[in-house]
Amino acid sequence: MAMESKFEHNKVEAKIYSEWEKSGAFEPRGQNPYTILMPPPNANASLHAGHGMYTIDDILARFRRMQGYAVRWIPGRDHAGFETQFVYEKNLAKEGKSRLEYDRQTLYQNIAKFVEDNSGLIFEQFRRLGFSADWERAVFTLDPQVVDMVYQTFRRMVNEELVYRSDYLVNYCPHCGTSLAELEINHVERTDKLYYIKYGPLTVATVRPETMFGDSALSVHPKDKRYTSYVGSEVLLPLTTRKIPVIADSMVDMKFGTGVVKITPAHDPNDFEAGKRHKLPTIRVIDQLGRMTLPKDVMISEINGMKVKAAREKTVEELQKIGAVEKIDEHYLHAVTVCYKCGRDMEPMTVPNWYIRVEGLKSPVVTAIKKKKTRFYPQKFEKQILEWMKIMHDWPISRQVVWGIRIPASDPVGPHHGQIRSF
Ligand SMILES: [Zn+2]
Repeated sequence: MAMESKFEHNKVEAKIYSEWEKSGAFEPRGQNPYTILMPPPNANASLHAGHGMYTIDDILARFRRMQGYAVRWIPGRDHAGFETQFVYEKNLAKEGKSRLEYDRQTLYQNIAKFVEDNSGLIFEQFRRLGFSADWERAVFTLDPQVVDMVYQTFRRMVNEELVYRSDYLVNYCPHCGTSLAELEINHVERTDKLYYIKYGPLTVATVRPETMFGDSALSVHPKDKRYTSYVGSEVLLPLTTRKIPVIADSMVDMKFGTGVVKITPAHDPNDFEAGKRHKLPTIRVIDQLGRMTLPKDVMISEINGMKVKAAREKTVEELQKIGAVEKIDEHYLHAVTVCYKCGRDMEPMTVPNWYIRVEGLKSPVVTAIKKKKTRFYPQKFEKQILEWMKIMHDWPISRQVVWGIRIPASDPVGPHHGQIRSF
């Protein structure tokens, strides 16, 4: 038989692959199990070149199979909650639409359809790469047995008092409409204006004058002799009828600005902690759509309902009218937190959220790593996770998106603090 002058892989590969499948070549045989869980690709698009890296898993699976192990390589697709909704919303935006035009159920069904249309090719593409995965056992992360396991785990955590619901300061992206975990926010350096605002006899430097309507105190360092006589007194919050106390707290950096800072517990992580220490009221002035929602004691009613940036300009304009702007530093370099998805500024705010208490969960993890029960390749990641364990706070598990597994709880949640529901 003459050899073909050109190798036509199309004619050969598909045929061989289907014979592998028909003969059950990817089924586990033998006694010693060897299992790899394929990191499931996001089910909102076809594969990208990076997924070709799974070839390493395939090599391992085939190597162990030849050594006589009962190999099971389990493939899957990830519903990728927020990620997928983000991709879907970008498509909606192209049509000039937004998620807010739909009710929860319709939006969910539309995204489910989008996922079906866009992820159908994934397993075919893996087959074309020759992957020896156990397709019969493929898992989609919204399959009933997965959802069931999530609910069982949640129930267990409730019973062990590992979860709680609390009004808590979260990193919120008004554009994406969800709170994000610490690892999901990016820190960037940027030049912004730093405003020096007079609160009666004291001057405060801030990049966020519009949040002043949520101030519940001014704070100075206890050792700062310049201000000792003011501690315990009250000042009038400009543009309002509210009087706020001057407190002393060692978190204040004497060298920043004038050494006097405003405390806005509802919209700043450090202030949130200071507010708890000094039992100050938490006054929310920005809603989940990034618009101002002002308390009644604010005298400039036009600011109500404005977007944050417009509100900032208007606030400064009004402050200038009453001579309360001492100066503006036009080029203040500082770190800001931005959304890892859309790149817009994060808005720290208090919203009701579910949390996992991590304190008791950390030490078994650290022990397992130190005793080498869990090993890292490459090894440098071992140090990284140990560092991470040290700084980790309680983990917010709620995401305000429709696409995903709902938190299985329907207890009365108390007053809603005037928040706008955006799912
Ligand atoms: Zn965002």
